[in-house]
Amino acid sequence: MRSKTISTKARENQIMVNQQSRQQSIVCDTHSVSGVVSQRACVYCGARVVLNPITDAAHIVHGPIGCASYTWDIRGSLSSDSERYRMSFSTDLREKDIIFGGEKKLAMAIDEIVENENPKVIFIYATCVVGVIGDDVKAVAKHAEEKYGIRVIPVNSSGFSGSKKDGYKAACHAILELMGPEKAKEKIAHSLNFLGDFNLAGEAWIVRNYLETIGLTLNTVITGDASCASLKKAKESVLNIVQCAGSMTFLAKHMEQRYDIPFEHIRFLGIKDTIRSLRKIVFTIGNQEHIERFETMIKDKEREYTPKIEAYKHRFIGKKVAIYVGGGFKAISLIEQFNELGIETVLVGTQTGSQDEYNQFKQLTSEGTVILDDANPTELEYFMKQTKADILVGGVKERPLAYKMGVAFLDHNHERKHPLCGFEGAYNFAKEVDLTVNSPVWSIVKQGGIYHE
Ligand code: SF4
Repeated sequence: MRSKTISTKARENQIMVNQQSRQQSIVCDTHSVSGVVSQRACVYCGARVVLNPITDAAHIVHGPIGCASYTWDIRGSLSSDSERYRMSFSTDLREKDIIFGGEKKLAMAIDEIVENENPKVIFIYATCVVGVIGDDVKAVAKHAEEKYGIRVIPVNSSGFSGSKKDGYKAACHAILELMGPEKAKEKIAHSLNFLGDFNLAGEAWIVRNYLETIGLTLNTVITGDASCASLKKAKESVLNIVQCAGSMTFLAKHMEQRYDIPFEHIRFLGIKDTIRSLRKIVFTIGNQEHIERFETMIKDKEREYTPKIEAYKHRFIGKKVAIYVGGGFKAISLIEQFNELGIETVLVGTQTGSQDEYNQFKQLTSEGTVILDDANPTELEYFMKQTKADILVGGVKERPLAYKMGVAFLDHNHERKHPLCGFEGAYNFAKEVDLTVNSPVWSIVKQGGIYHE
């Protein structure tokens, strides 16, 4: 059965109501429907999400200043060294540049950045306008590389040229370009790269700490707290682990072909996922000593965190959650985490989920759960009212919607400043869910008749 909605006809196949007993599939991984104000970010934004945490790079947004607005210091990715990535560089294209071309302005911007910042790598993001006027960004980048002897890598990311996922691919191409074609001469024993973690609030450091306690070497995180040098070293690892599958599976496949590094999908959101993932890693590249250390660490962590999390459960009885996030891997982990807390998922959707991930949503949720791909605010509002969700999980674009509706909100996006991964993060998660969903403000709003009227 398809849901009867307020959506356009063209959106019908991207929305379904879970019926456990029936074979169902959803249409996903397509372009957004014209005229529908999708929650999905543009190609440039997808590229920027992946590359921005490379801390010693200069990131030039070649386009009008508006494209650069979603950059400066609003992301929670942390650095252990350079802070250059926090600067926003934009060519600030104006009317004249659009008429006569922006290549000269771009070349001047590179000159200025090299003089003042001395970066080892510069990424140039081509935005919509640049795609329309046809600036030869490649030629400008090549010229700058020859002039300065540093890497200047164009990112083909005109916003209109696809979906956010195409931006992920453009970013992966840029990373491969930086790593180069040759294989590593030597491998580091028991070492791995962590793909699809952006070190939000230091999450990659939490995982690094687990792996080091076990005795394994986390070589490179792609791209949380990464540097130009650490990315070049990534090919020396024996395993890639992929968390954000939507953005990084493409890179993992290419690294397997180019550098003979196999990959495994993992997730460090929630206690069960964290244990499952560490077990997978240790049994893939570890030895008996690593396995024993892993078992000890898990026992200690469970003893410390499980009772703390369990203590919150009675405060969540009868609560329902709506999840709308960027990628499918995160939504799967969230459904499981909410299940563990006794909170039912009544709505789940993503900007870029895959067919396989949507099938997992269906398996993990109950009959009647609304599942939707590439949603818009009108649909989210409609289904949140229909399912009577008590809390919305999302990012910067979903937050105002929840607050206007008088519904609790949990930020699970790149802006957040507190870690939600691993054991520590699972505890933070339960604490934050409690703080927001049980805040007295919502009952005052509901008494005012704003929501669930
Ligand atoms: S859609 Fe185009 S104009 Fe808008 S932010 Fe993305 S690249 Fe810039």
